[in-house]
Amino acid sequence: MQKPSNNPVTLPFGATSDPYTAASPHKGVDFGWINSAGQSDKTIYMPEDGTVTLVPNNGNDGNGVYFNNGSHFHGLLHTSQYLVSNGQFASQGTAVAVMGATGAADGVHLHWALKVNGQFVNGLDYVTKEEDMSKSPDLNEDDIKNMLRWAGVDPDTQNSQNYIKTWSDIGDWNKFIYDFQKQPAFQNALRAKFGGTVTRDDVLNYLNGNLK
Ligand SMILES: [Zn+2]
Repeated sequence: MQKPSNNPVTLPFGATSDPYTAASPHKGVDFGWINSAGQSDKTIYMPEDGTVTLVPNNGNDGNGVYFNNGSHFHGLLHTSQYLVSNGQFASQGTAVAVMGATGAADGVHLHWALKVNGQFVNGLDYVTKEEDMSKSPDLNEDDIKNMLRWAGVDPDTQNSQNYIKTWSDIGDWNKFIYDFQKQPAFQNALRAKFGGTVTRDDVLNYLNGNLK
């Protein structure tokens, strides 16, 4: 997953100063229309592959771009202009819309909503960061066994053995971490330990601190 805009965040997920939902925390990430070089940059990009549903004049959301890829629901809101057609498939990184101030918006910005398992989550926790890729540890089968054990999964079942063999054969530990991060058992174990949404950094910190 990538960010739908590289501009600075103007209101983070969970902020309580959202003027439109005063009492409840901000259920998305806002990006401004000025990039870090001080230039206007209103293009909105697909954070993941998906088939878009375009809903104009949708109450507070304004003109929205929505898509659901089966595990993630995205809403890209307050847009001024669509760059794709309703029902069109767009791959990650495709320019789909232009930022605007439609709906309940006090200025031009993008509100990026992400729902996982029916809950609004911080999209930035799901972005695969370039810098993370260089931090991938060199793992082996014992590491995976320890991770499974720690997450409360028996590493000696047939399923676990298949899982371990598959990833050992693939040998791409960046992909493995990304996959493992999403496993419910590991999510639950880490959440119990650290609280909140489990990120790729949590997995890497765990690996660096507990397995090495
Ligand atoms: Zn917002």
